Amino acid sequence: MTKNLSRLTVLISGASVAGPALALNLARYGAHVTVVEKAPALRGGGFAVDFRGHVHRRVLTAMGIWDDVHAHRTRMGRQTVVDADGKARVDLPAEMMSGDVEIFRGDLSRIMYERTKDRVEYVFGDSVTALTDTPDGVDVVFEHGAPRRFDLVVGADGLHSNTRRLVFGDESRHLRFFGHYVAGFAVPNHLGLDRTGRLYSEPGRCVVVGNYDGDPERAGALLVFRSEELAYDRRDVEAQKRILTERFAGMGWETPAVLKALRETDDLYFDAIAQIHIDRLTQGRVALLGDAGYGATMGGMGTGVAVVGAYVLAGELALADGDVRVALAGYEARIRDFARGCQKISGNAGPFFAPATERRIRSRDRMYRLLSSRMLAGFFKRLTEKAATAIDLGEYPA
Ligand SMILES: Cc1cc2nc3c(=O)[nH]c(=O)nc-3n(C[C@H](O)[C@H](O)[C@H](O)COP(=O)(O)OP(=O)(O)OC[C@H]3O[C@@H](n4cnc5c(N)ncnc54)[C@H](O)[C@@H]3O)c2cc1C
Repeated sequence: MTKNLSRLTVLISGASVAGPALALNLARYGAHVTVVEKAPALRGGGFAVDFRGHVHRRVLTAMGIWDDVHAHRTRMGRQTVVDADGKARVDLPAEMMSGDVEIFRGDLSRIMYERTKDRVEYVFGDSVTALTDTPDGVDVVFEHGAPRRFDLVVGADGLHSNTRRLVFGDESRHLRFFGHYVAGFAVPNHLGLDRTGRLYSEPGRCVVVGNYDGDPERAGALLVFRSEELAYDRRDVEAQKRILTERFAGMGWETPAVLKALRETDDLYFDAIAQIHIDRLTQGRVALLGDAGYGATMGGMGTGVAVVGAYVLAGELALADGDVRVALAGYEARIRDFARGCQKISGNAGPFFAPATERRIRSRDRMYRLLSSRMLAGFFKRLTEKAATAIDLGEYPA
């Protein structure tokens, strides 16, 4: 069963993970794909993201990138919870934190971009400002480029999706805030870590320093803190640095060195720990994919579900011979419960990293210490794999 979508024109908003993943799947079927990305170039940065279970493996293999992803994997080892003096309190096994294959988000994005850039039109530094859905196509107005019409528009523009706002309404209707914020950025590897991490918590805040790829010079820092919902400008990096500096002032362990690196970094990732819950992922000729439709900050599931979603959406389009309405109904039906299931196990990241009180920190550590590394790894593997494989992928055209 070979299908060709050469008459289909698709606009994808967002070129991080979900966008290039869909572009890659659609390009295999010959569709005409344009990806518009707000940033001036493909964005690097971000922490490691992971894949787990046979569904992720099958999808990455079908997309032709399993070997590449594997070649770029981080090989992260265990992470250790430490006290203020750096003394180990408990070890967290690699399988618990890193899935089967872990890769830097930036590397994954680049692999898919490189595979598609000759067949897909990428437009950087632009954004959609208006969408008019008609029976024959979606009329799109851009901030800079000339207006165009597409058969299908896909919002793959993340937790704070522009497409979702334009078509499905204000973000406040769909974003559930989970009472914590997370930040990630590169730091010097001054602890001399080699594919291991250290995690230090004080009530309501946590600092993790990890060396994921064996680079002797560089490590990554992850900061998590408990907070009321904050009003800040998401484009104002200096304001975000100020928030972090205030929230982590006076914290022990290696925090002063991490805050020094924060002042100097130019690749800060900062966001709320939040999820998107929306009644419908599709409307007319517009669909939401990845974090835009079913995002969940942290928890290790967002990237896998975005890539599976891209595979399913392209497969349904091929199955329906490019009939957008039929395909979007198929996508919605197949992906909705799967995505919900993945969100369900992602909600606890904040309290895990930054328990609210000293007592809760101690009971977290005691609980993990009681279980052996093998038991812990087995428990998390079963839990996350169950959600990551709870989808019947069906057979899509080759
Ligand atoms: C730079 C960066 C760093 C990240 N770091 C981490 C991390 O450390 N840990 C973690 O768990 N998750 C991180 N994430 C989120 C993670 O990539 C996603 O949770 C997951 O992979 C699903 O990806 P996505 O493509 O659906 O959404 P995202 O990865 O959020 O990508 C959305 C893309 O849309 C673009 N975009 C936004 N608005 C517009 C617009 N108006 N027009 C066009 N394009 C737009 C963004 O620039 C971005 O490239 C990061 C994302 C980014 C962009």
